[in-house]
Amino acid sequence: VTGSRDAVIVGAGIVGAAVAYGLARFGASAAVVAEQALPPGRGATSRSGGVLRQNHTAACDIELAVRGTRYYHDWAELVGGDSGYRRTGFAMLVAEKYTDHLTHNLAAVNAAGGAAVLLDAKDLVERHPDLQVPPEIAVGYEPDGGYADPVRATLSLLAAAGRLGVDTAEGLPVAELLVSGGRVTGVRTNLGTISAEVVVVCAGAWSASLVRGVGVDVPAQPRRIGIARAGLAAGRGTLPAAIDDTLGSYFRPAPDGGLYFGVPLDPEVDPDREPAAMLAAEADASRSRLAARLPALETSPVVATRVGFDLYTPDKRPAIGPVGPEGLYLCTGFSGGGVKLAPAVGELVAAEITTGSESPVLASYRPQRFAAGQLIESEFPYDRI
Ligand SMILES: Cc1cc2nc3c(=O)[nH]c(=O)nc-3n(C[C@H](O)[C@H](O)[C@H](O)COP(=O)(O)OP(=O)(O)OC[C@H]3O[C@@H](n4cnc5c(N)ncnc54)[C@H](O)[C@@H]3O)c2cc1C
Repeated sequence: VTGSRDAVIVGAGIVGAAVAYGLARFGASAAVVAEQALPPGRGATSRSGGVLRQNHTAACDIELAVRGTRYYHDWAELVGGDSGYRRTGFAMLVAEKYTDHLTHNLAAVNAAGGAAVLLDAKDLVERHPDLQVPPEIAVGYEPDGGYADPVRATLSLLAAAGRLGVDTAEGLPVAELLVSGGRVTGVRTNLGTISAEVVVVCAGAWSASLVRGVGVDVPAQPRRIGIARAGLAAGRGTLPAAIDDTLGSYFRPAPDGGLYFGVPLDPEVDPDREPAAMLAAEADASRSRLAARLPALETSPVVATRVGFDLYTPDKRPAIGPVGPEGLYLCTGFSGGGVKLAPAVGELVAAEITTGSESPVLASYRPQRFAAGQLIESEFPYDRI
């Protein structure tokens, strides 16, 4: 793989895979994806929950999420292969006092070309009878929401990029970004040097330390996050994906009838160490809390866990755009929400890199916003998001 390339993409998680496919479609087919492990890598993607939702609390995020959902919906046509998408519906549960905010955000989803409606608690329980939702909760419902299989989606994107000529190389850690005369000239790997005029860093939790080597400071931190799976007897095939802002939790069904749900963890910060396993007490505390919404969880033991590192930025939104020496481009910091956005981001990033014209959709996400103190703020927030 060493030699000269159109571009090097560092990292074969879902973001690197989506950028690779985007670049291939825009004609940069002599690119290579360098992955230190085996794709889809040892980062967030390989452990992710894959919940797909359009409901967000800032307009720029809604625009990206709607574009991302469209990719999953039309995967066979836009990518080819299978992303493991399941259209279970997605429900955003918020306290009644946020109905105005919810209504604004649902309207923004619809205006961006997505689909979302306001339901009351009773409507939601009629659709999904295993849920227990009190009347003082308002619901934003998305029929196209649900979940994807992040591993399958990533491998599908890499395969599609491969059909157009892009190589993916496993076991190829990038030790250093190479710079000369103010521009990127390539990367140094365990197998030697790859020269390229464009290097796209999609290295998840490892990204900030990699670019620090060429003097770029991104104030983002790796964070350990996790989900657990309960073997669920009731609710088979009838549950939506959901975020419950009142409980501070989220869940989505598993294809075999189980249920994945979020578990808050001690963050840790070193992605080079395998993240510590989740404790039974941590998983059980989240399971008990969520049983208020899904009573079947009371008697459903936790049977599996997933823990991984993602890169979190100060405003929990990604950092996307050129940084430092000419030719270096950052696409990282997805802060626990990258699966739903990645396919759309990959296309937009590839268009920017190959045409040189800036995408207005990506304008809010420039890495320079942190130093400038222009963090993205939620326009119509709820209690926790
Ligand atoms: C438990 C959990 C649940 C989640 N749930 C959801 C969800 O429901 N919905 C959602 O949208 N998102 C969710 N996420 C977040 C989502 O998975 C991430 O935002 C997304 O996968 C980030 O993708 P990435 O490609 O940026 O990073 P990663 O998947 O971490 O990929 C980065 C890759 O770069 C490689 N790499 C790093 N440094 C180098 C180097 N120097 N040389 C070569 N390779 C290198 C790594 O090995 C890694 O494979 C969840 C994440 C976790 C961990």
